[in-house]
Amino acid sequence: MNRFANKLAEQSIILRRARPEILQVNVGKLCNLTCIHCHVNAGPKRKEIMTRETIDRVIDWLAKTEIPTVDLTGGAPEMIPDFRYFIERVHRLPPPRKIIDRCNLTILVEPGYEGLAEFLAGNKVEIIASMPCYTPENVNAQRGEGVFEGSIKALRLLNSVGYGVSADLPLHLVYNPVGAFLPPPQAELETDYKRELRKHLGIVFNKLYTITNLPIARFAAYLRHNNKLDEYMELLISAFNPATIEGLMCRNTISVGWRGEVYDCDFNQQLDLQWQNRNGSGLFLWDIDPDQVDDREIMTGDHCFGCTAGAGSSCGGAIV
Ligand code: SF4
Ligand code: SF4
Repeated sequence: MNRFANKLAEQSIILRRARPEILQVNVGKLCNLTCIHCHVNAGPKRKEIMTRETIDRVIDWLAKTEIPTVDLTGGAPEMIPDFRYFIERVHRLPPPRKIIDRCNLTILVEPGYEGLAEFLAGNKVEIIASMPCYTPENVNAQRGEGVFEGSIKALRLLNSVGYGVSADLPLHLVYNPVGAFLPPPQAELETDYKRELRKHLGIVFNKLYTITNLPIARFAAYLRHNNKLDEYMELLISAFNPATIEGLMCRNTISVGWRGEVYDCDFNQQLDLQWQNRNGSGLFLWDIDPDQVDDREIMTGDHCFGCTAGAGSSCGGAIV
């Protein structure tokens, strides 16, 4: 049993799935950036991307369900050749689904991606965008030189097409710590972001989500390199908050990889904790009956302490 499962057992907490409400699809590891906190090890040289054939299988499965939200992540999801095809197909499904694009912002202003902001607005795609700080120093240190400037240009572009301004075009930002510490309180930080971005740069947005960095992939390597991995793990464990359990994203999200394989969350996906059938074979989305997912056991590991520390952390920010 891992330390997280032990902690749950000690406190008599049962962690099982509820009804699926979000299909989160990680369409690949290709990205124009190589951020130090990346849990996907994404970058410009990665070759893993979802093919059109797999996209069709995912959407055909989704069409048989009423799962209300499709959440696209990566890498930079916009970089796969069939990104627009994916969105257009989901957009046409009955009943209507909410579509989320987890965007690194800079891709919107890269050559070759002209018209992307307008396309997203036209399809009423909600944007959740990484913006780890409102100062250039912190953003560039975590994400690379020039990323702050590119992000600001992209935010201005999004505001100009209605994002963060029109009620039907939500623009949420994501803060994650630039080191081995937990995020500050979400509501206070949101106030600071709104004030600073509006005052100095004329940018508006809807909500700020604070997300804790999980000690896996590139962020774990960064911690190990700086001799901070054990210290960070201890910090997460000591901040365990049982009140976060009910709101953990693995309870209502089905996470799908670029080949269609299924996981409890995007972190488990990067750790290859794929769902298995009774014979130990890996399960793909098209093997799953959405009505049989409720109450399924969730595969956990020590990394799960990152989701339950302090105010908790999920794809929608703090939990409590
Ligand atoms: S954190 Fe996001 S933007 Fe940065 S390398 Fe990873 S996928 Fe790309
Ligand atoms: S990493 Fe977080 S979301 Fe994923 S299974 Fe663990 S607790 Fe759940």
